[in-house]
Amino acid sequence: MAKLLLGFDIGGTKIGIGLGDENGKLLGQRRIGNIDTDPGVILPQMLRDARELAAEAGVKVADIAAFGISAPFPADAKNGILLAPTNNKRWDHVPILDTFRRELGIPGCFENDANCGALAEWFFGAGRNCRDFIYLTMSTGIGGGIVAAGRLVRGSESLSAGEMGHICLDLNGRKCNCGQRGCYESFCGGRAVADRMREELADKPDSRIMQLAGGDPAKIDMRTLEQAVREGDDYALRLWDEMALRNAQAIGMFINIFNPEKIVLGTLAWAVGGLYTDPIMKYLPRFSWPQMRRDCAIVPSELRREIGSYAGIAAAKNYLLENAAK
Ligand SMILES: [Zn+2]
Repeated sequence: MAKLLLGFDIGGTKIGIGLGDENGKLLGQRRIGNIDTDPGVILPQMLRDARELAAEAGVKVADIAAFGISAPFPADAKNGILLAPTNNKRWDHVPILDTFRRELGIPGCFENDANCGALAEWFFGAGRNCRDFIYLTMSTGIGGGIVAAGRLVRGSESLSAGEMGHICLDLNGRKCNCGQRGCYESFCGGRAVADRMREELADKPDSRIMQLAGGDPAKIDMRTLEQAVREGDDYALRLWDEMALRNAQAIGMFINIFNPEKIVLGTLAWAVGGLYTDPIMKYLPRFSWPQMRRDCAIVPSELRREIGSYAGIAAAKNYLLENAAK
C-alpha cells in the first residue's frame, strides 16, 4: 500500500494542511488564514486539522509514515525553528518541528518553501523521473531548488543552497532586498520590477503603464507590464526584453553549472506563456554551451497554483527517501 504523508504549507497569508500518499494522491485538505496570526493559537489548530483529516480518511495518525513542513525563511532549518518570516513577524523562534514530532508522534521534517516547490515538481509534476533538475519560482521573488544526481542540494550548516535569485548579474545593478546589488531577483522578481516601474514612471502620468494602473502607482504590477507589452508600448517592450536577457543570463549559468535534464519555471512562465519564455530561449545561446542546452528541456510548472498542496507532502516523501538511503 502507498505510504501516507501529511503536509503543512506555511504561506504568508494562509496555511495549507494536506493528507496524501507517496504517489501524489490527495486524500483531504484544509486551509487556515495566516495574516498577523499568533503561533500559540495556530499551531494547535494545524494539529487539530491534521488529526481530523486522518479521521475523515479513516486512518490513524500513527499510520502516517511522515509529515513535512514547507516553511518560509528565515529559519533555523536544521532544528526546524521559524525566525520571524517577512509576512509572519509574530512567528519568532517557533520550534514547530519538535512540537509537531512530539504532538503527532511520527517522523517529520522541515524544509524551506522553495525547496519544497522543487520537490513537489520533482515527484509529482514536470520534473518526474529526472535525476538532475532545477525549479525556479519566477513569482514576486525568484527562488528555487536544485536536484543533482537524484538528491536535493541543501548545502552545509545553514542548509541554504539554491538561493538562485541572489546571484549577482550586474555589479552596478539595482540594490536588492537582500542587501547585495544587481541580483537576478532585482532584475526579474515581480516585486523588484514593479518597484522599478514605479520609480521610472513616477513623473510620467501619460505613460501606458500608468494609464493601465488607473494613474495609481501602487496598482502597477507584472500584469500591468504584460498588458502594455501586448499593446506594443515602447517602454514596456524594452523592460520586457531586458528581463528576458537577464533571465537567460541566470538560466544559462545554471545550465552550465548543473547540466540539468530539465528546468521547470513557475508562476510567470505558465501564467504568461510564450510571450515570457520565447525571448528567454532566444537569448539563451549567449550564456550556455550548445551541448548542455540541448540536454536541457525548459518547461513550465505542471502543478501550477496547486504546487502548495503538494509542498509539505513532497518534503515528507523526500525525508523518507533520504532516510531509507542512509
Ligand atoms: Zn539579492
